[in-house]
Amino acid sequence: MMRLPRFQYFGPRDLKEAAQILSDWGPQASVVAGGTDLFPNMKRRQQTPTRVIGLRAIAALHGVSGDAKTGLTLGAMTSLTRIENHGAIALAWPALATAANLISTPPLRNMGTIGGNLCLDTRCNYYDQNYEWRKGIDFCLKKDGDTCWVAPGSKRCWAVASSDTAPVLCAIGAEVSLVSKDGERRIPVYQLFNDDGIEYLTKRADEILTAVHLPAQDGRTRAVYWKLRRRGSFDFPVLGVAAAVRLGAHDVVEQATLVITGTGSRPFSAQAAAAKLVGCKLTDENALREVAAEAAKLAKPLDNTDFVMGWRKEMARHYVVGALKGLAKA
Ligand SMILES: Cc1cc2nc3c(=O)[nH]c(=O)nc-3n(C[C@H](O)[C@H](O)[C@H](O)COP(=O)(O)OP(=O)(O)OC[C@H]3O[C@@H](n4cnc5c(N)ncnc54)[C@H](O)[C@@H]3O)c2cc1C
Ligand code: SF4
Repeated sequence: MMRLPRFQYFGPRDLKEAAQILSDWGPQASVVAGGTDLFPNMKRRQQTPTRVIGLRAIAALHGVSGDAKTGLTLGAMTSLTRIENHGAIALAWPALATAANLISTPPLRNMGTIGGNLCLDTRCNYYDQNYEWRKGIDFCLKKDGDTCWVAPGSKRCWAVASSDTAPVLCAIGAEVSLVSKDGERRIPVYQLFNDDGIEYLTKRADEILTAVHLPAQDGRTRAVYWKLRRRGSFDFPVLGVAAAVRLGAHDVVEQATLVITGTGSRPFSAQAAAAKLVGCKLTDENALREVAAEAAKLAKPLDNTDFVMGWRKEMARHYVVGALKGLAKA
C-alpha cells in the first residue's frame, strides 16, 4: 500500500488567510481541493509539499451564481458532479456538463473540483508510476532526474495536458480569477496554460484559482466536446476535441474555435483551421473535412500515453470531423 508522506495541514476559513499561508511557505506548500490528483501524486512522491492548505472550508470558493444570459460564475471548489448536473450550466453550456461527466468515476467526480481539474498535473507513462518504478529508471526530468525518457535529447518535458474541462472552457472563452496576497487578476482560461510538461500553468505558485467565469449565452453559440480514451467507464483523455461556433443568418458560421488536448503539454487552439469554418455551414461535409485536416496538424502526440501515437494522430482528424458534425445537432 502506498502511504502519504507526513505533512502539516492547514484549514483556513477565508481566502486572505489561505493566500497568506501559501505565500509564507512558498514552494514547500500546496493547496488541495478534492485531493483526487494531489494525494495520489503525493503517495507516489511526484509532488512532495510539506505543508498542505485545504480549501474546503472557504465559503467564497463554493457555489454557482449568475445565469445563462449574464454569464455564470463557478466557485473553484464546485464539484464535477455539481457541474455535470447543474440545470443552468446544462442550459447554457452543455459541453461543459458533458466534459465533467466524462471525467473518471462518480466517487472521484463527487470529490474532484473544477479548480483542481484546471490545475491538474500533466501526465506521462514514465512519470505516473510509483517511487520505486521511477527510481528504477533513474527518475526523469519532470521529477528528481535529468533525462526525458520520451525524447532523451530534449531539454524540456513533454508530459501531456489531461484535463477534460480545460479544452471546453478554452473553446467557449471562459475566464478564471486568480488571487494572491497581493491582489486579484482575471485571465482567459486559454492563457492559464503553458506548453511545458513541468511548468504547465502560467499561474504563479502563490496564486489560488478562485472562480471560473462562463460567458453569457444568447443561444447563438454552440459547443461540443469529444473525448478519446481506452475504457468508456473511466480513463484520462488521450485526445480531446472541443469545438464552439457562433451561428449567424441561415446558420452560417460567424465565429469558430477548435481546441485540441491530450496530444501536447497544453490544450492548443487550432486557429487557422477554425478560421476556415467561418462562412461555411455545418452541413457542408467537404468544408468540415478540410477544417479537420488542418486542425489535426496541431496534434503531435508522443509515445508517452496510451495507444500507438500514429493512430492517435490519425484519430485527431476523425474526432474533429465528428465534433463539428456534432455541433450541427447541439
Ligand atoms: C483514477 C482517476 C481517473 C481520473 N480521470 C480523469 C479524467 O478522465 N479526466 C480528468 O480531467 N481528470 C481525471 N482525473 C484527475 C482528477 O480526478 C480530476 O482532474 C479532478 O478534477 C481534480 O480535482 P481535485 O479537486 O481533486 O484536485 P486536487 O487533487 O485537489 O488538486 C489538483 C492540483 O490542482 C491544484 N489546485 C487545486 N485547486 C486549486 C485552486 N483552487 N487553486 C490553485 N491550485 C489548485 C492542487 O495544488 C494540485 O496541484 C482522474 C483521477 C483519478 C485518480
Ligand atoms: S515527458 Fe519526459 S520528462 Fe516529462 S514526464 Fe515524461 S519522461 Fe519525464
